[in-house]
Amino acid sequence: MKHIPLKFVKSAPSVRDLPPDDGQEIVLAGYSNVGKSSVINFIANEKDLAKCSKTPGRTQLFNVFETHDKKRVLDLPGYGFAKVPTKLQKQWMLHFSDYLTSRSSLQGLLIITDIRRELRPIDIELIEFCQENDIPFAIILNKSDKLSRSKVQQSILKLSTTININKQHLFPVSCLKRSGLEPLVSLIKSWLVL
Ligand code: GDP
Repeated sequence: MKHIPLKFVKSAPSVRDLPPDDGQEIVLAGYSNVGKSSVINFIANEKDLAKCSKTPGRTQLFNVFETHDKKRVLDLPGYGFAKVPTKLQKQWMLHFSDYLTSRSSLQGLLIITDIRRELRPIDIELIEFCQENDIPFAIILNKSDKLSRSKVQQSILKLSTTININKQHLFPVSCLKRSGLEPLVSLIKSWLVL
């Protein structure tokens, strides 16, 4: 099966409110407007599953989705939310890095970006954090329909050299054209052991 069916479970304001730390889970992070909701809908083959990713929003640390018992996809509604005061942003990062280093069911992190844009500071901070702490991660380069094939390759090359990341960990996709899904779904399935 090409897609990963997901159902919304709950919003969790803190790590304490997450489901028990067993099974496998992955996390999706991305600035607003990069197409994070579209990616969640694309992976699950739904129309507006990710609506809840937009709503109660910024004070929630996680939105929790489940594909099977104990196999979860977590979305971060407050990620890089620019209008949040710096103090709150710092607090958020602190809670999140706590989660990253302590959650044993965590299998990997997917950072969603717009392929046309440079990585933003919090993306880079998170990538470096994963590299330093041996946390598996990959980058989804969304909106690849906006670039020609050669420009897509150029972006991949540039990214892989600037942040020292293996090209295998970069996934150009287009939610609009519905392309690039298969390698991404394979990665998620391997992380969630599906
Ligand atoms: P979010 O704020 O990160 O959850 O982003 P959304 O999923 O709401 O998408 C933001 C905007 O980008 C919307 O106008 C989408 O239609 C558009 N968008 C999302 N994915 C793609 C894509 O693959 N290609 C293009 N061209 N536009 C996209």
